[in-house]
Amino acid sequence: MQNRELTYRIHIKGLVQGVGFRPFVYRLASINKLCGTVENRNDGVTIELNCTLPVLQSFIHEIKSKAPPASKIETVEYENVTEKKFDGFSIIKSTSVSDNITDVSPDIAVCSDCLEDMKFQEHRIGYPFINCTNCGPRFTIIRDLPYDRDKTTMDVFEMCPVCKAEYKDILNRRFHAQPVACNICGPEYTLHEKGEIVKGTTEIISRLTDLIESGGIAAIKGMGGFFIACDAMNEIAVSRLRKAKKREGKPFAVMFGKIENVKKFALLSDAEEKSLTSFRRPVVLLEQINQLAPSVTMGLSTLGVMLPYMPLHYLLMEKLKTPAIVLTSGNLSDEPIVIDDEKALSILSPVADVILTYNRHIYNRTDDSVVRIINSKERLIRRSRGYVPAPVITKINTEGIIATGAELTNCFAIGRGYKVLLSQHIGDLKNMETYEFFTESLDRFRKIFRLEPRLIVSDLHPDYLSTRYAKASGLQHLQVQHHHAHIVSCMAEHGLEDTVIGVAMDGTGLGEDGHIWGSEFMLCDIENYERINHFEYVPLPGGDKVTHEPWRTAVSYLYKYYGNDFFKMNIPFLKNIPDKVVALICSALDARINTPLSSGAGRLFDAVAALLNICPVSSFHAEAPMRLESIVDRNTTDAYPFEKAETIGFKPTFSSIINDMTNGIAVPVISARFHNTIAEVIADVVSDISAKSGIRNVVLSGGTFQNRYLLEKTEVILREKGLTVFSHERIPSNDGGLALGQIMIAAQRMKIQRKKL
Ligand code: ZN
Ligand code: ZN
Ligand code: FE
Repeated sequence: MQNRELTYRIHIKGLVQGVGFRPFVYRLASINKLCGTVENRNDGVTIELNCTLPVLQSFIHEIKSKAPPASKIETVEYENVTEKKFDGFSIIKSTSVSDNITDVSPDIAVCSDCLEDMKFQEHRIGYPFINCTNCGPRFTIIRDLPYDRDKTTMDVFEMCPVCKAEYKDILNRRFHAQPVACNICGPEYTLHEKGEIVKGTTEIISRLTDLIESGGIAAIKGMGGFFIACDAMNEIAVSRLRKAKKREGKPFAVMFGKIENVKKFALLSDAEEKSLTSFRRPVVLLEQINQLAPSVTMGLSTLGVMLPYMPLHYLLMEKLKTPAIVLTSGNLSDEPIVIDDEKALSILSPVADVILTYNRHIYNRTDDSVVRIINSKERLIRRSRGYVPAPVITKINTEGIIATGAELTNCFAIGRGYKVLLSQHIGDLKNMETYEFFTESLDRFRKIFRLEPRLIVSDLHPDYLSTRYAKASGLQHLQVQHHHAHIVSCMAEHGLEDTVIGVAMDGTGLGEDGHIWGSEFMLCDIENYERINHFEYVPLPGGDKVTHEPWRTAVSYLYKYYGNDFFKMNIPFLKNIPDKVVALICSALDARINTPLSSGAGRLFDAVAALLNICPVSSFHAEAPMRLESIVDRNTTDAYPFEKAETIGFKPTFSSIINDMTNGIAVPVISARFHNTIAEVIADVVSDISAKSGIRNVVLSGGTFQNRYLLEKTEVILREKGLTVFSHERIPSNDGGLALGQIMIAAQRMKIQRKKL
C-alpha cells in the first residue's frame, strides 16, 4: 500500500511568494524526477505530485530544509486527492481560490549577484533596476495577490525576448522573478534639471555626482518614495537643505557608500553591523564618533546611518568622493513622503536643484525604517520599508478586526486569523495628506489581504482622527485604553497570555479618569488591566503647547514643589523667559485654566531637559528627551531620591538636581543621575508589585523606552532582581506599535463574549 503511486496535494503557507519558491520547488522536483505541478495561490503555494507516500515525505523534508533564504515556511500540509496523471513537472498559472492570504514579501535590497551582473551581463550593464528572485521591489509594487507580474506596477513593461527567456528558464536566477527587466525593456530614470530632460544612467550619475559635489541638492525617487540628497560633509549644503525643507532641528539620516567609512564616523557593534547590512537595509541609529557636517545631527550624539539598497545608490556612491550623503524623506514637514513623479516635480522643485524620477509607479508608499540596537537586540523606531507587511503571529484569532492606532505616530493593523498585519508607518493624521494616506492604505490592506471587517477598535481618545474614523465606519466599534494597548502589543510579540506586570513609559495617552496618562504600572492580561501606580499628576500649562515648549512643564513642576519660592532660585532657563509670562502661567495654574493633568513620563523628561537648559523649546517631537539622553555620562552610576506612596513623587529629585546645578555639577552627570533615578523607580515599584502579586513577568512598553540608556539600565536592574523582562523587538514601542495591542484586546474581549453567550 505504502509504495503505491498516488496523487498528493501539498499546501505550504508562510512567506513563500516573491522569494523564488516555485522555481525552487520545480528544481527539486526535476532533480527527484517527480511529475506534477506547482502554483501560487493567494493563500500560499500548492504542489501536486504523483508519488508514493515515502517519496512525498522525503520531498517535504527537502523543501523544509533547503527553502530559499528570504522565504519563511509556517506550515506544510498534504492530502491525498483524486487521481491525476501528470506528464513531467510544470509551474502553472497562479489562481485565487479563497479568502485566505499568504504573506507578501517586503522589499529586498539589491543582492550581490545582481551587482555583479550589473558589471558583466550584456543587456544589464549599469542597469539601475536590476533584480532577481532574491532581491528587488516587492510590497511597494504589489497591487494584489497572488504575486504575479500583472498584479504589480511592472505590468506595463513588456519583457524583451532575452528577459522572457530568463524568466522562463528554470535554471536561471530570474526564473519567474516578477520585476525582471533590462536596459532594453525595463523602467528607466529621467533627470529633470532646470527644465532640461536628461536620459541615460551614465550621464545621469555623472550629473548627479557633479551637482552633489558642488553643494547641490537632488530629489531622488527611491523604492517607496522620493528622498532628498546632498553631500553630508558640506555644511552649506546641509543647512541650505534644512532651510528649504523647513526642518529646524530634527537630525537627518545619511547613506554611506561603504561600511569601512561608517566605522570612521560611528561606533559599530556586531549587532549594529548585522542590521545595517541586512536585506531590509534600515536606518540604524549609531553612536557618532566623528562629525559630518554639523547640521546633519544638530548636536545629538546619535547618527542615523544606512547603506545603499538600490542599484542606483551603488552607482552613485561609487562615483562620489564624499563618504556619505544626507538622504531624507522627500516631503514637506508633516506630509507623507512623495511617491508621484508629477507631485515631486511640483512640490520638491523649490527644495531640490534637480529631480530624478523613474517610470515605474510606486503603489504602496514606504518610508525608510529606523532601528536602534539596545541590549544587543534590534528595536524598531519606525517600521516601514523592508519590514512591512510581515505579519505578527498571534495565539488568539483576530479575524476581521481593524485597529486604527494612535494619531501622531499612526500605524493601523488588520487581523486575519492568527496573523496581525501592521501597516507601514503612516505619520501624523492631523495632516490632511497623511490622513488620506491612512484611509487609502487601509482600503488597500483590506483588498490585498481579503479582509471582511466585523469589528473596529480605536484608542479611548475621542478627538483622535483615528477614533473618529472608527466611529464613522459603521462597524461595531470598541475603544481601548492607550497604555493597556501598549503593554498588550508587547505581550503579543512574545506570545504572553497570563497576567503580567506592565510598565508603560510614554508621552501622552488618555486615561479612564479623563487625565493624561503615561507612566503606568499595571497588572494586566490581554483582556483587562488594573492601574497599580503611576507618577504623580502635574498640570500642563497651555495644554498641547507644552510639547513644543518644555519650559512650561518645568515651570509647572517648580511651582508645584516650591510655590512662589522658585522665583528666588537661581535657575538658568528662567532668565530667558520674562517674569510676567512666568507669573501669568502660575496664575493659570492657580485658576486651573487650560492646565490638563498629566502623569506622562515624557513630560517629566521634558521638564528636566528644560530645567537643565538643554532644550527649553523643542523643534520636533520628543527632542527634549532625546537631547537629555544624548548627553548622559555613562560612568555615573548613582541616582537621586524620589517619593513612593500612592503615586510616585519627584520633589526630592528636583531638589537634588537644583542642588547639583548650584554646585556646578556637570550637566551630563546630572542627566545620568536622573536617568538612573527613573530606572530605579521602575525597578522599585515593579518589585513591590511582584512581591504582592507573585507575578514575575515584566513587560516594558511606550515611547520613552526608545531611550537606549533607560531601557538598557531598566532591563539590567529588573533582571538582577530575578524578574523576567520582555521588551519590544519587532514592532515599535512607540505609538507605531499600538494597533497590534488594540487588535489583541478586541479579539480577546470578543472571544470571552462569545464564550458567555
Ligand atoms: Zn538579485
Ligand atoms: Zn529585457
Ligand atoms: Fe503612546
